[in-house]
Amino acid sequence: MDRNYKIGIIKGDGIGPEIVNEGMKVLDALSANMGFNIEYHEMLLGGLAIDETGVPLPNETIQGVKKCDAVLFGAIGGPKWDNLERHLRPESGLLGLRKEMGTFANLRPAIVYDELVNASTLKANVIKGVDIMVVRELTGGIYFGQPRELLEDKAYNTMIYTKEEVSRIAKIAFEIALKRDKRVCSVDKANVLEVSQFWRETVIEIAQDYPEVELTHMYVDNAAMQLIREPKQFDVILTGNIFGDILSDAASMLSGSIGLLPSASTGKGVGLYEPIHGSAPDIAGQGIANPLATISSVSMMLKYALNEEEASVKIDNAIKKALANGYRTGDLSAYDAKEICSTSEIGDIIANYVCKS
Ligand code: NAD
Repeated sequence: MDRNYKIGIIKGDGIGPEIVNEGMKVLDALSANMGFNIEYHEMLLGGLAIDETGVPLPNETIQGVKKCDAVLFGAIGGPKWDNLERHLRPESGLLGLRKEMGTFANLRPAIVYDELVNASTLKANVIKGVDIMVVRELTGGIYFGQPRELLEDKAYNTMIYTKEEVSRIAKIAFEIALKRDKRVCSVDKANVLEVSQFWRETVIEIAQDYPEVELTHMYVDNAAMQLIREPKQFDVILTGNIFGDILSDAASMLSGSIGLLPSASTGKGVGLYEPIHGSAPDIAGQGIANPLATISSVSMMLKYALNEEEASVKIDNAIKKALANGYRTGDLSAYDAKEICSTSEIGDIIANYVCKS
């Protein structure tokens, strides 16, 4: 099997370069250790792209990502570019890139590490052991439906889903469930919305192809409550764009720290793997950013884009081991820290652990 991978690298702004460097460090260690090859292609996006090319999403980046097997991305944005017109701002570059890449599925794990149960605002016994994957439809539903209009005396949007849109996101959720605890909870509002009834019927149809996976359904209002009440009941949550937007943010806070959580946006072709946090300009350049969300994003990339499941597990285990041994970046210093580490020290520790496991 060909194990030569082309990985797009978009470091971005603020802490972006610092955290992506650590992701690459761990990937390099794994490739040397496990016998696959990585070829990096660095591309520009966001503020740095504006400074160097005048636009937030250069054409070379649009073309470049299409030639890669997967793209690792840091974060973009910062005060330097905040006063530009909307279409010239760094964020427009990222939205444009996601559109160009056709990434209709947003995967957001919410994992609570045992060593950090006290970092959450919820009680330890409620969140210990939580490991949820939210699969959110990203390019359809009410955010994109037509017609939409803002008038003087009324405004409206349209929540619309086609069979193709629901089927393809459902397949992704079922495929992911096969690699996890084999349970999908589809979240909708089928008691009130026709579009949700259609969503539910389509998901049930797709489920026929995945007899090993248990499918349940939940109304979104109940799901919001259950996420806080008993989050451990969930394995994979499958949901539409607006419900997923809200639920994935709620789920991400179960773990307590923004510096830990990865994400993947996948779809028609190449996927984008990135931490959920932004470019943190307040701590940029100080070498104190937590790189674990980015390193976890590398783990997702190995699992979902490159099919290097064993390498992905090595990263996940290395992160758990580093936390268990008390290594923390400053953002987690209040939670059972034995040693406060810089961004690159944490990267070194994880790179070292993945080679020894
Ligand atoms: P942010 O996520 O960058 O930062 C919020 C807080 O969390 C800050 O105090 C920051 O220091 C801290 N933080 C974030 N990541 C951290 C890490 N890895 N380690 C330690 N601490 C971390 O959100 P913000 O301050 O609202 O936005 C800053 C910039 O990032 C803005 O320009 C915004 O538009 C941009 N942004 C980009 C993305 C992206 O590229 N995907 C996402 C969100 C925000």
